[in-house]
Amino acid sequence: MPNTCKAAVFMGPQKPLEIQEFPVPEVEPGAVLLQIQMAAVCGTDVHAWHNPDAPFPAIFGHENIGIIAQMGRGVISDALGRPVKEGDRVLFSGTPCGHCYYCTISMPLFCETYGKYGLEPLSDPPVLNGGFAQYVYLKPTPWLLRVPDDVSSERALMSLIGNQTTMNAIERAGGIRVGETVVVQGSGPVGMGALNQAKLSGASLVVVVGAPANRLDLAKEMGADLTVDIADFPEPEARVQRVLELVGDKGADVVIEASGGKTAFQEGLEMVRMSGKYVVVGQYTDYGPLPVNPALIVRKSLYVTGVVASTPQTAIRSLESMSTAVKYPVEKLITHHYPLEDVNEAFRAHDAMEAMIPVLLPNG
Ligand SMILES: [Zn+2]
Ligand SMILES: [Zn+2]
Repeated sequence: MPNTCKAAVFMGPQKPLEIQEFPVPEVEPGAVLLQIQMAAVCGTDVHAWHNPDAPFPAIFGHENIGIIAQMGRGVISDALGRPVKEGDRVLFSGTPCGHCYYCTISMPLFCETYGKYGLEPLSDPPVLNGGFAQYVYLKPTPWLLRVPDDVSSERALMSLIGNQTTMNAIERAGGIRVGETVVVQGSGPVGMGALNQAKLSGASLVVVVGAPANRLDLAKEMGADLTVDIADFPEPEARVQRVLELVGDKGADVVIEASGGKTAFQEGLEMVRMSGKYVVVGQYTDYGPLPVNPALIVRKSLYVTGVVASTPQTAIRSLESMSTAVKYPVEKLITHHYPLEDVNEAFRAHDAMEAMIPVLLPNG
């Protein structure tokens, strides 16, 4: 094991990330040292980089696949009780405490002591707590999920990106039934996940509304039946009109908002049929008050729901689906690969929407 390793450190809003050297820690009982194989650059990272209030220094990288380099005493199995050993490829997260308000009454996802990797600033002294690094240190006792041998690392990573959250959101809304029509608002990584989940559910028609054209081409390759380019329909009213032409004037059975667009929520309310479902997963930005007509929720008797992330159950099934059910080449959504040193170029390619999903390969 080397004594030190490299990590890309966020040094403040709009500043270039810096490659720094960190000590590789001793592994305490119950902990795991992982060598990062692949770490995705996510919209959340790029938003934080633009956010004047984002805390720093920090090691980003919350969608990662790693190889177990060293295990502390006592770590023997993954979340499904399968034994793990050094050299195994795993997905990982912190473990909810199991006894706080959020774990017992609300949602474990919001657990206050849930160790989140790649989403929290560095402590003093720093611990390797994000995927934009050669190693990550998983505190006792991490939540691990062994990646089956027949699933490529790219497909395993795709189970985390877009898919596990939209799977959770759709299940929370009671699912999509075979033969239903679905509109996906947004053609980024979350929109692609929503599209994939709609196809998995047996939707008869999936329309993806988004831009730019190269993303819509990828959406078609991932099973989208029809697409609407917002460059062709720049006005919200025109987009709604176009979607209703495609799905039928009564509206879609299910609309999934995965765009984060400012007018998207109102558009979605207008696209969904009477007594349909509206699943909202893309709205992360606090735009402040927006013109929305909530009367549509009542008059159409809509079921409207949102989630911010996945659950351990959907994370497990999302990975499982990659070996057993997903027939589209979702690994092609990882369009750009970079060494750790080129992290700033990866951010630029994400920001400029040149890349669908850029990944870092911190160990080459
Ligand atoms: Zn993310
Ligand atoms: Zn808890």
